[in-house]
Amino acid sequence: MATATTPKGMNPDIGAQISYAMRSMGIAPIPRNYELFYEAYIGSNPALSRELAALGSQATQEELDAIGQQYFSSQHGRMVETAHDRIAAELDSLLRLLRQEQNSLESYSRLLGETYSRINSKNNASADILRSAITILTEATEGTMAHGEQTVESVTRKSHEMDMVRKELDEYKRIANTDSLTRLSNRRAFDDRLAAVYDGSAGLTGLILIDIDHFKRVNDSFGHPVGDKVLATVATVIRNHVRKDSFIARTGGEEFAVIVDGLGAEEIQQICERVRTALESTPFKNSKSGVNYGPITISLGYCMAGEADDAGDLYSKADIALYCAKHAGRNRTKMFEAGMQKDFTKSWLIYRR
Ligand code: GH3
Ligand code: MG
Ligand code: MG
Repeated sequence: MATATTPKGMNPDIGAQISYAMRSMGIAPIPRNYELFYEAYIGSNPALSRELAALGSQATQEELDAIGQQYFSSQHGRMVETAHDRIAAELDSLLRLLRQEQNSLESYSRLLGETYSRINSKNNASADILRSAITILTEATEGTMAHGEQTVESVTRKSHEMDMVRKELDEYKRIANTDSLTRLSNRRAFDDRLAAVYDGSAGLTGLILIDIDHFKRVNDSFGHPVGDKVLATVATVIRNHVRKDSFIARTGGEEFAVIVDGLGAEEIQQICERVRTALESTPFKNSKSGVNYGPITISLGYCMAGEADDAGDLYSKADIALYCAKHAGRNRTKMFEAGMQKDFTKSWLIYRR
């Protein structure tokens, strides 16, 4: 039942784990609750994760909705709503403008018709008729042209306004896909990207998963804010040591993923080792107090695309390789190979304090 409702492109393991966590806490399996737990699971919003965990196992729907309102509707919802209202208002006034233009053209054409009949009338002296006809036509033409210019001006103004709305929506999309702590892509963007790979609209040859070793100890020894700084530095080291065209995301609390294209297994192994050794030798020292938070190390697991059937399978296999790297002693890289296995699945409850 759990994986049947997994959104397109999302790692089915996560869908199952979230559904399981929700079920075991007696949370109603409705989309807005699922969205909350999804955010908590991927850990892209630590404050949300903490608040949700603080509710314990007796969370009421009111409490869940209060968190949802605080973290979703106040930021993203309002922005989209405003943009939507503005687009609707702009389209409405554009429509009114075009109707006015249509009315004005209709009266212009009526005038032309009347003038034509008067010219054809045999009862009037031809010179007078022509003179008055030319006057009427000139005035009508000038009026219509002026009106046309006004319309062009208004439409230009409106298209500028629409452009602003489009930019706001682009910005919203960027924020929705970015992890605020590390400025890397977030889990949502990663899931979309991996799905796009298997839709055929983007390429990939391998997936690397990275997890910081014993990160809990950093938090426990030096506090959460130091942990956050370490996370940001690890993200920078990863970004500086993989190819510029790789897609890098923070996929969970202290977990990262790199989608690599156009490289073979040996080159991916080299990249992993480059990141790992670079981080190993990165100083993590507080310049004021002299306290040393390091060394900080990472474990890496990767899987070549040819080894997997779909996005979920690729993710699971890279995760198995990562698990083996942890089990083999951490601070190392492992490639997924047929027969590799792990005997437990991680629970989202690791995000509880
Ligand atoms: P392992 O080597 O097995 O990976 O050990 P670990 O301690 O790194 O692994 P575990 O998964 O048990 O703990 C991960 C910790 O990451 C728990 C949680 O407190 C911390 N964490 C998750 N998200 C954040 C965050 O956004 N900021 C900080 N400071 N800590 C976070
Ligand atoms: Mg982890
Ligand atoms: Mg870890």
